[in-house]
Amino acid sequence: MSPACDLRVKGGKVAQIGPDLTPEPDEEIIEGHVNLLMPGLINGHFHSAVNHMKGRLPSLPLEVFMLYECPELEVLRPTPREAYLRTMLGCIEMLRSGTTSVQDDCFFVPAPEPEIIDAVAQAYTDSGMRARLALDQPELSELEKLPFLRDILPDDLRHELSVPTGAPASALLESYAHLIDTWHDTSDGRIKAAVSCSAPQRVSPDYFAQLDDLSIRNDLPFYAHMLETRLQRVFGEVCLSGRSLVRYTHDLGLLSDRMNVIHAIWVDDPDLDLLAASGASVAHNPNSNLRLGSGVMRWRAIQDRKIPVCLGVDEAIADDAINMWSVMKTAASLHTLSDWDYERWPQAVEVLNAATQGGGTAMREPGLGTMAIGAPADLILIDLKALPFVPLNNLPRQLVHCELGQSVRLTMVAGRVVTRNGRLQTVDEDAILAEASAVFAGKQNAMNLADKRVEKFLPYYREMYLRAGQYDLPVERRIDHLAR
Ligand SMILES: [Zn+2]
Repeated sequence: MSPACDLRVKGGKVAQIGPDLTPEPDEEIIEGHVNLLMPGLINGHFHSAVNHMKGRLPSLPLEVFMLYECPELEVLRPTPREAYLRTMLGCIEMLRSGTTSVQDDCFFVPAPEPEIIDAVAQAYTDSGMRARLALDQPELSELEKLPFLRDILPDDLRHELSVPTGAPASALLESYAHLIDTWHDTSDGRIKAAVSCSAPQRVSPDYFAQLDDLSIRNDLPFYAHMLETRLQRVFGEVCLSGRSLVRYTHDLGLLSDRMNVIHAIWVDDPDLDLLAASGASVAHNPNSNLRLGSGVMRWRAIQDRKIPVCLGVDEAIADDAINMWSVMKTAASLHTLSDWDYERWPQAVEVLNAATQGGGTAMREPGLGTMAIGAPADLILIDLKALPFVPLNNLPRQLVHCELGQSVRLTMVAGRVVTRNGRLQTVDEDAILAEASAVFAGKQNAMNLADKRVEKFLPYYREMYLRAGQYDLPVERRIDHLAR
């Protein structure tokens, strides 16, 4: 922490830092006396499409969880207003607690419609947040994305799951054209597009390469979930001739410094060497990884290789708060289990760096997540007289382990104040919350019906999951094997 000084914002960027700056005419003076000014937190990985489903599901492994996550009942197809409201719920929760930027790997059920893309982007625009928005759409059928299922399912269900349910690649590329033409680099660069394949095993190599081309041409981050679960590692053994999904992506020539490799839990040393050589960022989502029983990421092995790391919530039914302070606390605590040598355990400062400048690197926004001169003025003011900091013993540790967002007094994005004392200045929060509460209460019956329709698949997905658990692997990232 620097000694007390002033900071001047001009044109949405940090312009000057020093003692006793003289106010210029028309400048607003924000008294930060005895408070901490720091970069806003960056939610480096997020799916806003389920913001209205927080707390809905018990803890389940990812592959079973995903059956419930995006039901394709027509009655659940969102209206543009519903998409707007659910996105805004996330914006309110993030901005109130000092998260100023998000990478939204948004999925659209059954497919991205222009008016739904517009509704999501409009919510970010109206809220005042900084956002990267991608279209996280699988292209292949369930049978192609998962191991064992083809052998396990009875004929009727096998046939049902052999048909891709989303849009074909050509339609998805048209949706990207709409997203980029309409929204990329709007609101003075606060709203930008990104590219997503969801995961390498969920798309054809051809579409994967076309997305990479789109990412190159527009300099967009490229989101790809990789090796989140044990089953995904087994997928590589069974369906990719023993190659991991990281190795498979490398072999396709698609690992790059634009790529955000999401989760990267079930990685071995050669995988990490490939990631380090590519310059890709890893997006770490420790609350989601625990909630879904996915496993423990190799924090120190990744840091040792200087692979950039950002932190994320993942989503509001897999965390289920949208609170980056909670994510930081878990990241700082969880990895004490990964290394016997306590000198290799996470330090509060490196966790804070991941939640700020690590996010800026992943987003491909130079300076974002820092307070360097010329950096975007995405800043938060923390009340150091609030309980988490009384008495003040060690600021980084108290930020990571004590604070949960309740001490954020002001949130600024691109030089504009978007919250004061925990209230958004950009939208009518009370009206949004009342409307969202009523709208989504009206959807409960349809969501319960969707849950029922999943039941016929459960015994077979369980069988697939149990088989993956028995499969011998060169890596282990859960602790239950100790009891096997
Ligand atoms: Zn995710």
